[in-house]
Amino acid sequence: MKPWIILLLGLFSITAAFGSDPLVPKLTAAAGIAAREPINSVCPVSGDTVGSVGKPIYGEYQGTPVAFCCKDCARKFRKHPGKYGPLAEKNQTAHEPM
Ligand SMILES: [Zn+2]
Repeated sequence: MKPWIILLLGLFSITAAFGSDPLVPKLTAAAGIAAREPINSVCPVSGDTVGSVGKPIYGEYQGTPVAFCCKDCARKFRKHPGKYGPLAEKNQTAHEPM
């Protein structure tokens, strides 16, 4: 084999390896989200059981998935994560009126 052919083949294998790369992080990210269950079953804002009022809304507190019973609670949490986050970690609630 001539040296330039070896060089060409080398370039091809590099392109092939990098060509499939962009898919890998996407797949692992999707699997990571699916594998992460929220830490709480009770809405930390209102005290309703998550999923009892409708489709649960998911948020995040310090990298931990947290579930809420509704959009309003998720919005309140985003305004005051320091207030509701620690409650969610203990599966406790502020029992706030809606
Ligand atoms: Zn709620």
